[in-house]
Amino acid sequence: RLIILNVEVDNFKSYFGKASIGPFHKSFTSIIGPNGSGKSNLIDALLFVFGFRAAKIRSSKVANLIHKSRGREPESCTVTIYFQRIIDLPNQTYKVVDNSKFTISRTAYRNNSSSYAINGRAASKTEVEARLKLVDIDIEHNRFLILQGEVEQIAMMKPVRTNKSETGMVEYLEDIIGSNRL
Ligand code: ATP
Ligand code: MG
Repeated sequence: RLIILNVEVDNFKSYFGKASIGPFHKSFTSIIGPNGSGKSNLIDALLFVFGFRAAKIRSSKVANLIHKSRGREPESCTVTIYFQRIIDLPNQTYKVVDNSKFTISRTAYRNNSSSYAINGRAASKTEVEARLKLVDIDIEHNRFLILQGEVEQIAMMKPVRTNKSETGMVEYLEDIIGSNRL
């Protein structure tokens, strides 16, 4: 099973300079804090690395994701996610899979361009998507993130797909458990 160890943000949205957020718990992490303290910005940081378009990250362009405050206008912002594979063992214990640690990063620049890296080496968006698919994160179908307002949409799904433009509950669940690939 894949876990996120921590997330490193550098000049991303409300985070000025570098900050490491984590370590996350292997099963459940909850982020708490006052209004405007950066909880949603941390989720946005994950969406940014997963290649979501700026609009999904509550921003009109990627350049707006770069931290901006009085007198501070860095040239770029970067988010790095640290992943690792673990094997669950009895009694809430687990074993780390040897050499399974890897990172994915994305950087956005003032000119609205952005670039990706895998383990610190430049990579294309396609390579990032393929790397994540290897560990069962399917960005294209995105069944692993439930964003604000989407709970209702899931609850309202028809049992099975009736036309091409909508997903039925059966297809949704089969995407999650992976049986549609068999
Ligand atoms: P709530 O409890 O209201 O949902 P939250 O903890 O989720 O709050 P966020 O939405 O993560 O809060 O953070 C919002 C803050 O991030 C705002 O104060 C906003 O000004 C700041 N912010 C967003 N983009 C930038 C940026 N590019 N530079 C500096 N600050 C930014
Ligand atoms: Mg919020």
